[in-house]
Amino acid sequence: MAQVRDYADIVGSSVIEELFTIGEKARSMSIQHINSTAVGGGVAEILTRLVPMMNELGVRARWDVIKGGERFFAITKKMHNALHGVPENFSEEDWEHFLQVDADNARSMSFDDSVVFVHDPQPIGLVNERPHYDNKWVWRCHIDFSEPRQNVWLFLKDYIEEFDGAIFSAPAFSRPLNTKQFLISPSIDPLSNKNKDVEESYVDSIFEGFKIDRGRPVITQISRFDYLKDPVGVIKAYKLVKRYIDCQLVLAGGGATDDPEGEKVLKEVQEAAEGDKDIFVLLLPPSSDLEINALQRGSTVVLQKSLREGFGLTVAEALWKGKPVIASAVGGIPLQIKHKYNGILTHTIEGTAYWMKQLINEPDYANELGKNGREHIRQNFLITRHLRDYLLLSLSLFHDKDIVYL
Ligand code: UDP
Repeated sequence: MAQVRDYADIVGSSVIEELFTIGEKARSMSIQHINSTAVGGGVAEILTRLVPMMNELGVRARWDVIKGGERFFAITKKMHNALHGVPENFSEEDWEHFLQVDADNARSMSFDDSVVFVHDPQPIGLVNERPHYDNKWVWRCHIDFSEPRQNVWLFLKDYIEEFDGAIFSAPAFSRPLNTKQFLISPSIDPLSNKNKDVEESYVDSIFEGFKIDRGRPVITQISRFDYLKDPVGVIKAYKLVKRYIDCQLVLAGGGATDDPEGEKVLKEVQEAAEGDKDIFVLLLPPSSDLEINALQRGSTVVLQKSLREGFGLTVAEALWKGKPVIASAVGGIPLQIKHKYNGILTHTIEGTAYWMKQLINEPDYANELGKNGREHIRQNFLITRHLRDYLLLSLSLFHDKDIVYL
């Protein structure tokens, strides 16, 4: 596993020295992260690397995952959808069950670290434990919060305001709240198996393994099978392009243990793809980082046609690989893509299809976008910046003023 100093070649040694300086200041602190899945989805992806890196800097960090049954995750998935603007109904029993599961989890957990980061709504009820501890609690929101449904927002707001602060991924997600708000974007790890450089021959072997022809254009979307990732919309866009260009489509993804809708969505995707041997619907097991890396690298164009998106790590992953990316202008994606400079932002299936054709037909322009994309990610969305932000934020919580002097 990469060490913090290994990142110097990518981000420069001054960034690494600064991290160690901040680590010195933060050494007396300990940090707990809590979320609801150890694998699948962006939060798990980030914590897998961030927690060991914090420890390496001398800040004791740990990561706990709450447990829940089918009913709990069905409710939290409804909350997730409603926060993303989808109409969902909640009964009093739903809220009670949700809080009961968090309370049950709390009984087998301890919260005595200096800072407790609670990620997303699933574990938010744990904040009821806060009065028993003399430490700081932060709610870390990874969700597109631009248009939440009122029912779920009003429920959550009371809990969010019990925290010492709330972190959002993009300015558009900030809301009137009676607690401090911070803006911290997510990040990718350039040295992880998902993102590190790999041999071209390895990329070839993965494509061969899946029987995808690298001699013809390949359009790829990597995502959990989730309605909000609009996989069926991707197939529609591909079909519009296929009339003119002999291309292939790869829809690759797995599930997350806290997402019960995956199977249903996958079935719909398989039905929509039926009869077209150039559509590859790949169900990937959790340990597929190298395969995903190769699929992203070997693609002609990478798509992220989400209907809502907290940030969209897959966009950063593809940009980092210098790929031309077409993504919806939703949630945190416009932070990553400046239209026609380092990628393409679209709003419709037709617009996505139009740009797919353009980028396949204009490889020089597509390469230029990809090159700018890699630089934009280097400057803004690598894990070293994220680590720095979390440590500075944690330190700032113990200061009366908002500024931390190093
Ligand atoms: N991912 C994965 N396997 C899959 C699908 C996705 O490892 O089958 C990864 C993907 O590469 C990315 C993360 O899961 O790192 C998804 O994060 P993103 O922010 O794009 O979406 P989320 O799933 O959190 O909504």
